[in-house]
Amino acid sequence: MANWHCVKHCGACCHLDPSDRPDLDQYLSPPELALYLSLVGEDGWCVNYDALNRECRVYAERPRFCRVEADVFQDLYGIEPDELNEFAIDCCREQIEGVYGDRSLEMLKFDQAVGI
Ligand code: SF4
Ligand code: SF4
Repeated sequence: MANWHCVKHCGACCHLDPSDRPDLDQYLSPPELALYLSLVGEDGWCVNYDALNRECRVYAERPRFCRVEADVFQDLYGIEPDELNEFAIDCCREQIEGVYGDRSLEMLKFDQAVGI
């Protein structure tokens, strides 16, 4: 069975451009939405994203909506813990497809790493 984990040097989910995520206000509280919007840089990437190394500069202190954790996903998206694995894989694939393309090296690496 495929096993979700974050693949190093991907970074696709740090592309925050709100026009790609029209339903943000449906799962983020007003303060979280304000925080989210404050992080969007001019190029659509998070201002905390280190594009060279494809890493988060504030990883330990990253916001709740950046965390793939059972309680966060249950609260934000109504996903039960036993559905988290599959849902997180779908989220990553959707984000990777949007940013890099569905035949990108990043998609290939992700699929290989999680065992698809
Ligand atoms: S899209 Fe998924 S694999 Fe890529 S950086 Fe985000 S959590 Fe990690
Ligand atoms: S805070 Fe970090 S993990 Fe969250 S979107 Fe920005 S760079 Fe990515």
